[in-house]
Amino acid sequence: IDFGYQEVPVDEKVKRVAGVFHSVAGKYDLMNDLMSGGIHRLWKRLTIEQSGARAGMKVLDIAGGTGDLTLKFSRIVGPTGGVVLADINDSMLKVGRDKLINSGAAGNIEYVQANAECLPFEDNSFDIITIAFGLRNVTDKDAALASMNRVLKPGGKLMVLEFSKTNNPLLTKAYDFYSFNVLPQMGRVIANDSESYRYLAESIRMHPDQETLKQMMANAGFVNCRYQNMTGGVVALHTGIKP
Ligand code: SAM
Repeated sequence: IDFGYQEVPVDEKVKRVAGVFHSVAGKYDLMNDLMSGGIHRLWKRLTIEQSGARAGMKVLDIAGGTGDLTLKFSRIVGPTGGVVLADINDSMLKVGRDKLINSGAAGNIEYVQANAECLPFEDNSFDIITIAFGLRNVTDKDAALASMNRVLKPGGKLMVLEFSKTNNPLLTKAYDFYSFNVLPQMGRVIANDSESYRYLAESIRMHPDQETLKQMMANAGFVNCRYQNMTGGVVALHTGIKP
């Protein structure tokens, strides 16, 4: 089964992405920890450390899902700042909102159901925008990057944390085996859903590599675009500034 971006019509892809995240929402955090051996926490911590977030800032966490980044930002920006957790999928948003409320998150978080391709916010609204493990699920990535550029304040920072291309052939082999064999099996056993996890593996393979994404960010109007590989390029953190 190939759920690759090129092979399915746009409407079909939107439906598949929605189906995947409705299906995995309840088990998402558990699967994230199991699949990454907990390393996703480190990738997210590095993202927060490099964000430059300070008290009083306004942050948008797009495709925020169950809100790991949102929670960390909410503590940093404090009562004079604010964080918007935006996600297209109401099941993920609900799991995220319940989790954040249960973990005693401050009242500086808003929850918004929104498509990254056409963000429902005013121009120049945010100091920082993050999209973690979300961009690869977005159908029109150029439209999404342009929309993020529009709602960022001048001088604001976009941070894209996403699976990327490994730079070592052995690691690539091991990673492919893991993604296409181990991962769907784990999905089957733990979440009773191997298809969704096969989709996730396929979407990682189809996602633009580091240099391509950097160029896409520049094309969308960002400057100082750069990236930092993590875990041998399994994941990359791209950043860019709105001039
Ligand atoms: N950011 C969270 C994290 O790092 O744990 C969640 C990442 S989860 C793999 C991907 C999220 O992207 C899902 O919650 C999904 O609903 C959301 N998503 C997919 N397409 C989207 C779109 N076009 N606009 C906004 N969110 C989208």
